[in-house]
Amino acid sequence: MENCPWVHRLYSLYTSHPGSNVLLAWFQGNESRDIESTPPQEVGQHCLAAIKSCTTLESLPPIVNVERTQWGINPWTKGSYTFLSKAASGSDFDTLASPLPCESDKEVPALQLMFAGEATHRQFYGTVHGAYLTGVREADRLLECLNDSNSTLLNRY
Ligand SMILES: Cc1cc2nc3c(=O)[nH]c(=O)nc-3n(C[C@H](O)[C@H](O)[C@H](O)COP(=O)(O)OP(=O)(O)OC[C@H]3O[C@@H](n4cnc5c(N)ncnc54)[C@H](O)[C@@H]3O)c2cc1C
Repeated sequence: MENCPWVHRLYSLYTSHPGSNVLLAWFQGNESRDIESTPPQEVGQHCLAAIKSCTTLESLPPIVNVERTQWGINPWTKGSYTFLSKAASGSDFDTLASPLPCESDKEVPALQLMFAGEATHRQFYGTVHGAYLTGVREADRLLECLNDSNSTLLNRY
């Protein structure tokens, strides 16, 4: 365990559901990215060692299979949760949520492209309810535009 920084980032361990023999381990911090390039069996062995070191369990059943996420190295996700870095601000969420074309562009009809999803919610980013609320927000935006008699959208349909 000494040579394995990521195992110290284990912050939660529980069965996937009551009575299950599937153990779900959660890791945090930059070190947790190293798990993605660690062979699955090795990940399992380190987890077993961690469990033994902090419980009174003498023996544990052998591991049948280890699955680990690879969201860090996946270019389409680059991680698991939306994270507001020190270089970012709340207004970045509003920028991501802004439909295209932007309001100042009068050449193109409004609302050609709209954005929903947790990463566009300033307060509840990283949550399911945040994602849901952004879907409602964008539907409202569209309805408002369709109900606006001056809307260029309405003239098109
Ligand atoms: C491990 C983990 C645990 C979590 N636990 C909780 C929890 O307990 N409670 C909670 O509230 N939230 C939790 N969350 C967060 C929650 O899951 C997300 O905030 C939520 O699912 C985001 O929804 P979304 O619709 O914005 O995006 P997503 O659910 O990520 O949906 C985006 C979809 O777009 C698809 N996609 C991406 N790119 C393309 C493309 N180019 N073309 C077509 N499709 C594409 C993706 O495949 C995906 O299906 C958790 C997240 C993780 C990772």
